[in-house]
Amino acid sequence: MAKIPFLKYAIKHIFMPAETEKRHHKLVEAPESYRGKIKFDENSCIGCGMCIRVCAPEAITKKVEKLDGEEKVTMNFDLGSCTFCKMCEDFCPKKSIKLTKDYSLITRDKSNLYERGSFIKKLPVKVEKKAPEKVIEEKK
Ligand code: SF4
Ligand code: SF4
Repeated sequence: MAKIPFLKYAIKHIFMPAETEKRHHKLVEAPESYRGKIKFDENSCIGCGMCIRVCAPEAITKKVEKLDGEEKVTMNFDLGSCTFCKMCEDFCPKKSIKLTKDYSLITRDKSNLYERGSFIKKLPVKVEKKAPEKVIEEKK
């Protein structure tokens, strides 16, 4: 009888939970320079949009909502489109983006694959320009 490769292994694992569904094993720690899940700090972001410009797969979006005298800025990182290139982290002038060592992206719910944060940006107060006052020189 011809041998079927891995038959013994397949029979042994047939009633075990699927590797991709239940994490019944301990995750190993990723190496120091690993580029995993993005962590965004909305407290330091200034909404400059540099990260959006350098992101090749267009995984970053910015939403601006106008409020009274201020703006609500929401930055959104789509981890489903991200290639984990780290360009956004390298170019962010405020160090608001960090690629962590977390590589676990297994999920049934796509909403888990977003990293986002909002902050309020105060708009500059408009100063009305006054017409220059006429200087009347006295005749001597
Ligand atoms: S995360 Fe950084 S690069 Fe992106 S908008 Fe905020 S400050 Fe600018
Ligand atoms: S790591 Fe790269 S692909 Fe992912 S959001 Fe940042 S720039 Fe875009």
